[in-house]
Amino acid sequence: MPLLVMKFGGTSVADLDRIKNAAAKVKREVDRGYNVIVIVSAMSGKTNELVNWVEQTSPLFDAREYDAIVSSGENVTAGLMALTLQEMSVPARSWQGWQVPINTTSAHSSARFVSIPRENLDTKFDEGMRVAVVAGFQGVSPEGRITTLGRGGSDTTAVAFAAAFEAERCDIYTDVDGVYTTDPRISQKARKLDKIAFEEMLELASLGAKVLQTRSVELAMRYNVRLRVLSSFEDTDETSGTLVCGEDELMESKVVSGVAYSRDEAKMTLVTVEDRPGIASAIFGPLADAGVNVDMIVQNISERDYEGHAGAVTDMTFSCPINQVARAQKAMEDAKAAGKIGYDDLVIDTDVAKVSVVGIGMRSHAGVAAMMFKALSAENVNIKVISTSEIKISVLIDRKYMELAVQALHDAFELEKAV
Ligand code: ADP
Ligand code: ASP
Ligand code: MG
Repeated sequence: MPLLVMKFGGTSVADLDRIKNAAAKVKREVDRGYNVIVIVSAMSGKTNELVNWVEQTSPLFDAREYDAIVSSGENVTAGLMALTLQEMSVPARSWQGWQVPINTTSAHSSARFVSIPRENLDTKFDEGMRVAVVAGFQGVSPEGRITTLGRGGSDTTAVAFAAAFEAERCDIYTDVDGVYTTDPRISQKARKLDKIAFEEMLELASLGAKVLQTRSVELAMRYNVRLRVLSSFEDTDETSGTLVCGEDELMESKVVSGVAYSRDEAKMTLVTVEDRPGIASAIFGPLADAGVNVDMIVQNISERDYEGHAGAVTDMTFSCPINQVARAQKAMEDAKAAGKIGYDDLVIDTDVAKVSVVGIGMRSHAGVAAMMFKALSAENVNIKVISTSEIKISVLIDRKYMELAVQALHDAFELEKAV
């Protein structure tokens, strides 16, 4: 029998009525002749509550217990979804990660898939089960402990199952009806895209568009999974939503196809660092060892004078996620205390946000950066750090201008208009 993977996010299973609504969508596919693997998130807000409980109980928590606790929200929705389907006369069974088993690495709270053996589910499908409801976001480590895949990880569970079971499609049901040119919560002019290339979606996701977890897009790209984002609150059919697909399936595309933002950024500057070969390595080595995900980097001539410094000096600025600031600061202070680096000051700015424009058309078009900077300057938004890659340009700005910047860029690149 043909197989579909259908994933329902937190808002789509937020209460019993919504679970019923989602189950009705599943039943419709079963009636059409599909076997279905349903991946569920925890009810919306549940995972945050669980994370909170962990942090209140133990600020420097044991990562194994964190995973045991925060994975539990999905267990509840998986069981409820299976029961709801049974009430609709659909043969359904729930599966927790370890029961499948979903084998992952033992990197707790950011585990990666190792394998998803098909045998257990296939046997039950052969015996007449029509729907396997699998708890998203979780797996089991080689040591037999529960793991989780990082926030938003149920998307990745869904794509991994679609790849492992060679599903016809992987449908991600959420609270918006597709992928938009930017977050529809930030810009009313955001336009739904019918299709988006894997590479663009990958950039948008990794630059902050949380509609899909970055890893899910990576996996879909690698295994060529037909990945679709659509609304769980509307009537949908095969043509609904946004298809994330290979570039060859796009008819034509704009130079810039989307604007992403990330609020949770911080900027740190080491002031008056000695300017010598090896200094970058002496700074970023300890940051990497401390697990800090450094994003943007700039090195510039120090504003401070040379007084008291024997040689040339420079300022080194980098950005990282705001929740890693304490770790980054400690790594720098320790490196300084150990005599590995010297600096006068460590300036920390936690009121910044990153705004990015993304588009595969940038590969062949010049002038996108100039246009972006012009649009921001017209709104008097000061750019603090810039970084570019082949298909994206990102800037770090004051957080209070973030929404304004997203809207200005959406206007400047005329994203509200179709190609
Ligand atoms: P779920 O709980 O279903 O996993 P998420 O909250 O993780 O849903 O993701 C959906 C949200 O992603 C939307 O409500 C929307 O605010 C946000 N989002 C950010 N950028 C985009 C974008 N470019 N297109 C669509 N949604 C976006
Ligand atoms: N419930 C988890 C989270 O909130 C995983 C998910 O919903 O994708 O991050
Ligand atoms: Mg999500």
